[in-house]
Amino acid sequence: MSTRTHKITLIPGDGIGPEVTAAVVSILETAGKQTGCSFDWHIHNAGAEAFAKTGEYIPKALYNSIEQTRVALKGPVTTPIGGGFSSINVTLRKKFDLYANFRPVKTLPGLKTNYPNIDLIIFRENTEDLYAGLEVMINPDIAQSLKIITRKGSTRIAQSAFEYARKHGRKKIHAIHKANIMKLSDGLFLQCCKQVAEGFPEVTYAEHIVDNTCMQLVLNPWQYDIILTTNLYGDILSDLCSGLVGGLGLVPGANLGKECAIFEAVHGSAPDIAGQDKANPTALLQSAVLMLHHIDEPAAANMIQSALEKVYAEGKSLTRDVGGASGTKAFGEAILAAL
Ligand code: NAD
Repeated sequence: MSTRTHKITLIPGDGIGPEVTAAVVSILETAGKQTGCSFDWHIHNAGAEAFAKTGEYIPKALYNSIEQTRVALKGPVTTPIGGGFSSINVTLRKKFDLYANFRPVKTLPGLKTNYPNIDLIIFRENTEDLYAGLEVMINPDIAQSLKIITRKGSTRIAQSAFEYARKHGRKKIHAIHKANIMKLSDGLFLQCCKQVAEGFPEVTYAEHIVDNTCMQLVLNPWQYDIILTTNLYGDILSDLCSGLVGGLGLVPGANLGKECAIFEAVHGSAPDIAGQDKANPTALLQSAVLMLHHIDEPAAANMIQSALEKVYAEGKSLTRDVGGASGTKAFGEAILAAL
């Protein structure tokens, strides 16, 4: 069998990043061998560790690598709170104009949660809103953050969500907003969503206010199919939705632009469990499955997803966050055995 080799930028990240990345890389390589593909990993770091080594938070070599490979698999990177350097994650998303953050939230088989059979998708605008990082101290007692919402940014994320719905037979899109208060910014977002919706009459379009959405998600999450929203609400709702299916250890994500894509879990670097062999690599593994579809390796993607579902259905080798007793490594080995 001839082998297709894919150049992929690999950012192991901080905290639990290196542990979950190691597990995922060995699973990808094994599945690749069985399906005729291999990976040429371009490994780079970013954040505090990269700064200590290179004097840059995002080394030029990392930028160059993503420009060349156009695909990255990324572990979480720690962002200092209330000061320090700007978020590496936000910077990379803006630099490569990865405007669509795609986060499928789906219950895994066999996993006991309070909300069975969840299957919803979040489309989060990824480059603007309060994450534009435009903050000033007006005076020592007044801080100001600018919320930027543009017609271009809102229209293209809405377009992504509706096109996805059309392609995959999804029935309903809810635009989530706070336009009752932020009449201009969230108002513009809604105006763009409505306009795009007109071109997709087969998809039901609805609007919910974000605070109500939080309650609705806790009472009846099954009413949602696709959630389409701005950056900050999307960030918060993603963590809420991950709780519906068993936690942050499970939910994958893709940052998608016209030229490049970065695949990463919803979760952060989890300093509370870093280096203890406790982290669940499922979220990064499912992000890698999204990546395999993106690089047109559906056989490897399906093989990994089936192995993952088999391990969850058996329930014997799960990590502690989802009620098991296994460590990161043992869980990874169970997946390898199931491949
Ligand atoms: P977090 O997602 O790191 O952790 C929240 C909770 O979930 C913790 O209790 C943690 O132990 C648990 N958790 C997360 N991932 C898990 C996994 N794979 N397996 C088992 N348990 C898991 O959120 P936080 O503590 O608010 O943030 C920590 C750091 O991560 C911050 O510096 C933040 O800025 C950064 N962060 C980075 C990204 C990213 O790189 N994309 C995303 C979110 C947060």
